[in-house]
Amino acid sequence: MLIDESGEERARSPDESFSSRSFEVLPAVVPGNLEDYEKGCCEFNWASMYKEFGWSNGGSYNVAVECLDRHAQNWRKNKIALFSLTADGVTKKYTFREMSQLTSRFASGLMRLGAVKGDRIFVYLDRTSELYMAVLGIVKMGGIVGPLFSALGPEAVKDRALDCGAKYFVTSPYLYRRLEPILDDLVDVDKFIIVGDGSGLKERTVSFDAVMAQGDPRFQAVGLSPADPYIIHYTSGSTGKPKGVMLGQKALVQQWFTSKNVLDLREDDVYWCTADPGWVTGTSYGIFGPWSLGTSLVSFEGRFDPGKWYSILEELGVTVWYTAPTALRMLMRAGDEVVKEHDLSALRHVCSIGEPLNAEVVRWGNKVLGKRIHDTWFQTETGAIMICNYPCMAIKPGSMGKPIPGVQVGIVDEEGNEVEAGKEGFLAIRPGWPSMMLGIWRNTSRFKEYFNVPGWYISGDQAYRDEDGYFWFLGRADDVIKTSGERLGPFEVESALIEHPAVAEAGVIGKPDELRGEIVKAFITLRPGYRPTKELNDDITQFVKARLAYYAYPREIEFVEKLPKTRSGKIMRRVLKAMEQGQPLGDLSTLED
Ligand code: ATP
Ligand code: MG
Repeated sequence: MLIDESGEERARSPDESFSSRSFEVLPAVVPGNLEDYEKGCCEFNWASMYKEFGWSNGGSYNVAVECLDRHAQNWRKNKIALFSLTADGVTKKYTFREMSQLTSRFASGLMRLGAVKGDRIFVYLDRTSELYMAVLGIVKMGGIVGPLFSALGPEAVKDRALDCGAKYFVTSPYLYRRLEPILDDLVDVDKFIIVGDGSGLKERTVSFDAVMAQGDPRFQAVGLSPADPYIIHYTSGSTGKPKGVMLGQKALVQQWFTSKNVLDLREDDVYWCTADPGWVTGTSYGIFGPWSLGTSLVSFEGRFDPGKWYSILEELGVTVWYTAPTALRMLMRAGDEVVKEHDLSALRHVCSIGEPLNAEVVRWGNKVLGKRIHDTWFQTETGAIMICNYPCMAIKPGSMGKPIPGVQVGIVDEEGNEVEAGKEGFLAIRPGWPSMMLGIWRNTSRFKEYFNVPGWYISGDQAYRDEDGYFWFLGRADDVIKTSGERLGPFEVESALIEHPAVAEAGVIGKPDELRGEIVKAFITLRPGYRPTKELNDDITQFVKARLAYYAYPREIEFVEKLPKTRSGKIMRRVLKAMEQGQPLGDLSTLED
């Protein structure tokens, strides 16, 4: 039984499912690398993808070879691998041959220092060119990279370094100084390799330049097996303590496949991924996938700034841009005028990742940018894109799209039975895709929890599939709101809220309520020019009431200056919930401020 608006019980009508809603559709455009989605799925098998990818060393694997050395040995040797834009406006350029040699130097320099295969080596740097040299250099000598976003504080770094037993750090003088309070705790660390002027720094330091000078530019990469780990990424910490996810060499095959068929990268592309390499998108799609295709990458050291970002797109002629909903919402909030000041004609399409992409943002992209925005879904644990939109497929704004060929996604109940179209369930995947995590570092029991439902990997997200096979995100399993006997995803309410002209961003949670179990509570930031008033509150409430099911409008609205977000830009609903209920806030190591 459900409880209706007046508090009366009522029965659920038989056709009450998500797919009874109607949505506008953006038609497919000219085919991309993937010409026909259905055909692509029918003809697909991973064995032939491994073959097509063709590891160059036959039997011996190293992703650094596939990303750099193989291009350095063919006609791409003088092609730009990296446009590295510094915070103060300098653009440094590196060819594939240069990057291949620089990373060989770093790899062999590291080995001279005493590093061996399997060592965990943390890269704690701003987004400078040395970050890319370090990451690929470590992989080249068989080390396991631990990339850390440079905004993390000392305690967050300590947690991760102790969890992993990190033996080396590649960092900068100012980040090393930030770690001073915890340096004594980092007992496993042998050396801090310092990029820049490290004079005056205390113990255990060696300069990056000295390591490079000791290295050999002709060093041959260490041969590894497909299931050897190359990276440990800590998750974003949206739902709890970050987990150390290990990805294996063979993940590159899926990163390559999706860079080609989802990002739709072509030989002449200039591609910019705004995600920091401290997060999985910033390596899988900010480094490995695109470089395996020989794509020219853009990297920007500075912070988010609408005018600056549009200028980068324009000046470098970026053709494919991979970014996050939070950035797109901020650009939307900055207004349409600033878009008109820039020539974005080189840009073919935009891709989005990390959080649900509101339909309103897709419509804005279409209307104001004049570009399609392709939502993509994946997790640190999946290592590469799993569900997404493609140039050859119509977009249903607000939907994540469809699974990539070769990946089987289901919406399942607690026993693992697939539920029918339009019904909510756990977003689950049949295990065995190439980039599936190898494990959680030193936490086998946590790893096993993902596979508690027989036959499936359980992602922790709730979603539904519509009758056309499109997947729709509802929320994290923990964030689903149970109100008046109904289950409701916060994303749906947030998306309706940001369609209101006054609303910039919204975070929605369930607040305990005696009658309804939970009520919907919204935290809202306003667009410039709007003030938080009772009238605005009522107007927003009415606005959502007119759009969503009767139980889904926010009974409580709180206007806030800022929403709590992870450093990768995700709204932390668990923090909103804990604050609302006066409970402990939990692990805040990835909180933005
Ligand atoms: P933690 O696991 O530490 O709580 P996290 O899940 O945010 O943090 P990530 O692995 O970075 O860490 O993020 C994966 C999650 O991000 C997904 O499970 C999903 O909830 C969300 N996400 C990613 N892409 C999308 C998308 N396109 N639409 C909706 N949600 C998305
Ligand atoms: Mg997660």
